[in-house]
Amino acid sequence: MTTVCWFRRDLRLTDHPALLSALEAARAGGLPGERLRAGARTDEVVALYVLDPTLWRTAGSPRLAYLAASLRALDARTGGRLVVRLGDPAVVVPEVVRTVAATSVHVSAATEPFGRRRDAAVDAALRAAGSSARLVATGSPYAVAPGRLTTRGGTPFQVFTPYRTAWLEHGWHSPAPAPGDVPWADLSSEPIRDVAPTVALPPAGEEAALDRWAAFVSDGLADYATERDRPDHDGTSALSAALRWGEVHPRTLLADLAAAERTGHGGPGATTFRSQLAWRDFHADTLWHHPDARTRSLRDVVLDDAWASGPGADAAFDAWARGRTGYPFVDAGMRQLASTGWMHNRVRMVTASFLVKDLHLPWQRGAAHFLDRLVDADIAQNQLNWQWVAGTGRDAAPFFRIFHPVTQGRRFDPDGAYVRRWVPELRDVPGGAVHEPWLLGLQAPANYPERMVDHAVERTVALADAAAARAAR
Ligand code: FAD
Repeated sequence: MTTVCWFRRDLRLTDHPALLSALEAARAGGLPGERLRAGARTDEVVALYVLDPTLWRTAGSPRLAYLAASLRALDARTGGRLVVRLGDPAVVVPEVVRTVAATSVHVSAATEPFGRRRDAAVDAALRAAGSSARLVATGSPYAVAPGRLTTRGGTPFQVFTPYRTAWLEHGWHSPAPAPGDVPWADLSSEPIRDVAPTVALPPAGEEAALDRWAAFVSDGLADYATERDRPDHDGTSALSAALRWGEVHPRTLLADLAAAERTGHGGPGATTFRSQLAWRDFHADTLWHHPDARTRSLRDVVLDDAWASGPGADAAFDAWARGRTGYPFVDAGMRQLASTGWMHNRVRMVTASFLVKDLHLPWQRGAAHFLDRLVDADIAQNQLNWQWVAGTGRDAAPFFRIFHPVTQGRRFDPDGAYVRRWVPELRDVPGGAVHEPWLLGLQAPANYPERMVDHAVERTVALADAAAARAAR
């Protein structure tokens, strides 16, 4: 029998339940669990990736360039047998199934709205084509699949902490090694498209991800709990793009965290890192229960017209996006994003808060910009983190928690090294003074913009907007 392993957000061979399922079905001559028929041949597995024009048209170039590099790495892992096809998966997948007379198509479950719709369309197309092959979903990109955990009352969790408790209690199975000898089918493939990277990309692919993780476990994990908030240090794993494309599965990371703890090397770092992976699953769970959270606020904390579209809105947005707000910590973050396709988590929170609560612009507009520019752009993580900052999400930060762009800078970039790295106009301003160039008087660099708003004033406006919305309800 020939089966298809359709890769999507799982561009790896290690700990890949859908691949194991495809292999088992090919060997058994049927679906996993069916008994090996006497004399059944071991046949082949097609390693398929479908480049969906919808994704290609809409995704930002940093994300696409990373995807192209990751596909090349996966192709190398399969000995050059990755079959890339361009087109609507509802057309391409049945075509491939027909060509090789495949008996089943194996996938990691898609859990976000676009992927769920796409998979339903592919399954329907297989049926319409009269194929007996079905889409078989095994595993998901998460440690605990979205939708799996509910409260004792059977309802979705609204609050992160009890979700995390249930998540820890639920647990996950141990990661499986990469299968040794996969009989990959040899089919013609379209070339993997070149995408000129507009930013300096990190190395892509499963091996690079595992190397980066190993280096982090040995050098960064022990101090992660404190270092993770310092954008001026290299204190995080930088694994988000690898997790986004499934070059590594969170189960692998969780197993290594447990191993580090057993040998006394994990410390609070392992606990904190595990929590971040729980947040990742929580956001995916939120999107599972609220597919419209991509664009719709889960809570109405301000009136629609308070999130403005007034005459200055485009200019304000543009200054924010280009890193020219006059607030150095915000500008450093936006320029880091523009140059590298990545931004430190602390600074993502501060820049997002600035857009929503200082400039009073809708979170959706900022989220769209991030999706376009981030290498790790992910619909669940991006939209739900934006909603968290905006105070509109499930278990979000309360709206009145407004990040102070100067205090945050002074606290998490105390010597100003992060700002000086990304804002060259301020390179000669020493120490933490770089966070408030307006206090430098005549020494202030002439080519750095004035503050576009006064944070203290805008904070009051934001709180008044929220109070007005409460009163109107
Ligand atoms: P580490 O600190 O090493 O964390 C390890 C992993 O845990 C990350 O790779 C990520 O998968 C997960 N994680 C960490 N923080 C969070 C978090 N707050 N929420 C969910 N998962 C988390 N992350 C994305 O992967 N894609 C996005 O599009 C995205 N957009 C964001 C937008 C905003 C406004 C904010 C505030 C955060 C966003 N994040 C997003 C979450 C977080 O900023 C990144 O995952 C993190 O900065 C990636 O760097 P790292 O891998 O070094 O993280």
